[in-house]
Amino acid sequence: MIDTPEQPIKRVAELWIGGRRRPSASGATFPVRDPADGSLIAEVADATPDDGRFAIDAAAAAQSEWSATAPRDRAEILHRAWELISERRHEIAATITAEMGKPLSESLGEVAYGGEFLRWFAEEAVRINGRFSRSPSGNGNILVTKQPVGPTLAITPWNFPLAMGTRKIAPALAAGCTVIVKPAEETPLTMLLLAEIISSAGLPDGVLSVLPTTSPAAVTSPIIADPRLAKITFTGSTTTGKILLHAAADRVLRTSMELGGNAPFIVFDDADLDAAVDGAMAAKMRNGGEACTAANRIYVDNAVRAEFLAELTSRMQGLVLGRGTSESTQLGPLISERQRDVVAGLVGDAVTKGARVHTGGRTVEGAGYFFEPTVLSEIPSDARLLTEEIFGPVAAVIGFDREEEVIAAANATEYGLAAYIFTDGLDRALRVSGALEAGMVGVNRGIISDVAAPFGGVKESGLGRESGSEGIEEYLETKYIALR
Ligand code: NAD
Repeated sequence: MIDTPEQPIKRVAELWIGGRRRPSASGATFPVRDPADGSLIAEVADATPDDGRFAIDAAAAAQSEWSATAPRDRAEILHRAWELISERRHEIAATITAEMGKPLSESLGEVAYGGEFLRWFAEEAVRINGRFSRSPSGNGNILVTKQPVGPTLAITPWNFPLAMGTRKIAPALAAGCTVIVKPAEETPLTMLLLAEIISSAGLPDGVLSVLPTTSPAAVTSPIIADPRLAKITFTGSTTTGKILLHAAADRVLRTSMELGGNAPFIVFDDADLDAAVDGAMAAKMRNGGEACTAANRIYVDNAVRAEFLAELTSRMQGLVLGRGTSESTQLGPLISERQRDVVAGLVGDAVTKGARVHTGGRTVEGAGYFFEPTVLSEIPSDARLLTEEIFGPVAAVIGFDREEEVIAAANATEYGLAAYIFTDGLDRALRVSGALEAGMVGVNRGIISDVAAPFGGVKESGLGRESGSEGIEEYLETKYIALR
């Protein structure tokens, strides 16, 4: 049962700099649209490079005082922010659904998940430890301390407008870093709302700024070049991540990169097939397929492939498409016309090359950026969707016969974020988990994100880990003090 949301959307939303709202230096705004029908939700202030300078000025000015606050005080602000997010969950969820399109039930799930990072890192803020030891030679003592890295630039994507922000903001604030967030231009309203909520929890002015803009490179480049910036943390495509890594190299900046994925989802013949189909629905269709952890290639042992395909097809056919605000909706629109065209292009390419369509396969005519839930099989080996991130409601099922064959196929990608395996055998689960080139492996489960676990990828899927006890380390610098 979805509670009726309050109407949260402002017609004009301003930047958040130095603890208050302000218009862009140019006075310009840009439209944010509802992907369910393309209608205007709000005009949002369009940050300029000057606004970027105001934000880094504010972050640098607040840094030393913020890092000197008692860990317990930082923890209490984060904890209060978590409480406020929980109290205002319907308003935040309605904002996410309005600008991103996912069903309200999923937006409420994101608020619960995204809010948890504030609670988790409130608990981590008071557990930042160093160490003390005697040198092996006996000639000295070693003191190791942790200090906040310093002002941090966080750049976030549109697919989880709240959680991709809180997964960075919470550990950075807990560690004692000030933060400038550049949210995705499609979904800035959620981040602006979050900044106001964290501010009302007692965060000092200037510690957190939010800069929506239609010129991300122009606004962030001078911030990255500014000697006062200490770190970039980014979630988004591998292409953009590489651009930012090049820019960071010029300043030898600390970086954390959560980039694209191409997750294999492997069903062995000894798996519980009902559980495997449930897992595939979760891993494929969570967030409408617009997740970096989404199952991109579903490998099923040929012995059980027909049965799996029939069940998956029936489940996909049963999904109710519609506006995220409708209680019956299970699948919302894609984020934009461009993204829908990307998905349609990948499906068209596979079908032209010989893939078989079990259900769906087409763009939905009419308003909004909807694409039919789709199941494909007999995918030719040169189909682009085997190597490119689909980011939409399209399940590509591929048969296999041998374990070594499927491991080699699963690893034949430059990505290495998530992977999933379904099997009843513990030995096989551990052997295959070890052999898969991925930062995270789900065994007999389709959802793996957990606030207490390290999230991140290998290969071109990224650098560093978010959440878990590892998450705060990304915002801490180690200092060694040599003592007599
Ligand atoms: P994107 O890279 O196009 O954009 C992400 C962010 O970067 C946006 O805020 C955008 O404005 C900004 N940006 C783009 N170009 C920039 C530049 N030159 N300088 C500075 N900022 C720039 O990605 P997207 O299409 O919005 O998001 C989808 C991608 O994000 C997918 O590839 C997905 O896998 C990835 N993603 C990864 C994770 C993860 O944790 N690994 C989580 C969610 C999404």
